[in-house]
Amino acid sequence: MFEVLIVGAGPAGSFAAERLAQTGVHVALFDGRPEGDPKACGGGVTAKALKAWPHLLDAVGRSVNELEMYAPSGRCIQLKLDEPFAIYSRRAFDAHLRRRAVAAGAQVLKEKISGSRTVKTESGWLLKGANGKEWRGKFLVAADGANSAIAKMLAGPLPAAEMEVAFGYRAPLPTNDEAPTVVAFLPDWVGYAWAFPRVDHISFGIATSQDAFEHQPLDDLLWDFMLGYYRKREDSKAKLWTSRKIDRERDVRLREFLKATAERYAARIPGLLPKTWDTRRACGAGWALLGDAAGFADPVTGEGIYYALRSAELFAESYLAGSPASYEQNWRQDFGRELQRASEMRRKFYGNFWGAPFTERMIEFAWGHRGIKRVLGDLVAGHQGYVGLKRKLARSALRPL
Ligand SMILES: Cc1cc2nc3c(=O)[nH]c(=O)nc-3n(C[C@H](O)[C@H](O)[C@H](O)COP(=O)(O)OP(=O)(O)OC[C@H]3O[C@@H](n4cnc5c(N)ncnc54)[C@H](O)[C@@H]3O)c2cc1C
Repeated sequence: MFEVLIVGAGPAGSFAAERLAQTGVHVALFDGRPEGDPKACGGGVTAKALKAWPHLLDAVGRSVNELEMYAPSGRCIQLKLDEPFAIYSRRAFDAHLRRRAVAAGAQVLKEKISGSRTVKTESGWLLKGANGKEWRGKFLVAADGANSAIAKMLAGPLPAAEMEVAFGYRAPLPTNDEAPTVVAFLPDWVGYAWAFPRVDHISFGIATSQDAFEHQPLDDLLWDFMLGYYRKREDSKAKLWTSRKIDRERDVRLREFLKATAERYAARIPGLLPKTWDTRRACGAGWALLGDAAGFADPVTGEGIYYALRSAELFAESYLAGSPASYEQNWRQDFGRELQRASEMRRKFYGNFWGAPFTERMIEFAWGHRGIKRVLGDLVAGHQGYVGLKRKLARSALRPL
């Protein structure tokens, strides 16, 4: 019998477990992920998150203070970030947060919980594992990610239109150890590709809408992007997406190298529609949803780690104050409006503006304008939200260079 049962030891579950257990709450933290199998993720953690929780810097990661941002046409700007962000392998990041939960007194159980056999009882909740094992607790927290079976039961399923898909490859670092961090908006598709170098490998990926997802053309696009990335390491004049003078021999060699070394991964990220933010609840009698399970990810970028941690923190504060139901109001006030704004912006962000993709125009304007570049840097750092973004961009554009 536990006081709080937390299903899912990703960032949201582990952080909530730590915050509750350190004040003496008897917490069970369940995770069914096979040993050593990392969560599919870019692992980018914004400067805003690092500032809010400096202990994240104790996890082994790579600090990034420069970012190459590409428009769909291949035009590029170099963003120098005033405050660095970090890129982690999710194996290292999740293990760090889980260790802290254990040190605070949470009991970690390597068990996959059956969502369909989770039952509300008179005294709380009854959870069942794969081998028929059972656990009881007074309060249930679902932090089991974007496919949360418990969230489906408690708050209802999310349609495909409210899901993003992200997939990619973990690949070796270039041999000359020159590994820039890259974000490239996709030509003719919603979303972007990334190259996030970590300590001992690179995470390449594409994030796009699930309802527009077509596997083969997007996989081809990602392969073009990866080849372009390595090609540029060998020849700085080469283009990212297509080389003006394609050196076929080099491309064949690079492709074979990647085919032999890259590991594929794929997963979903919630991307709630504007109206859903008004209706979807993240808590009820004796239960709460955190992080991806609650739908808390940025619908423009797919960033979810900050919201996983912040929702865990807000839930723990509400619970410890003796009013778990106030979590609903607290997350709405804290970041709910911001995420709803992001979801309103999404169509415009990946749509057209003055006859070209908005992302193309944004990079074109930033090219010659320090103020706009700074706003983009703040957006990447997590300090510039979507509320007020348009005003800030317009004000920067009007200011002298
Ligand atoms: C490809 C990709 C790239 C991304 N890149 C970024 C990025 O660069 N930066 C960023 O901020 N966000 C990124 N995101 C989003 C980010 O990964 C999530 O928002 C974040 O991991 C949410 O944390 P969480 O703790 O809510 O859920 P998760 O990290 O998904 O953790 C859920 C945990 O629950 C466990 N679990 C699931 N079901 C059960 C069960 N039945 N029983 C027991 N345990 C269970 C899982 O094993 C897992 O450990 C990316 C997502 C994807 C898919």
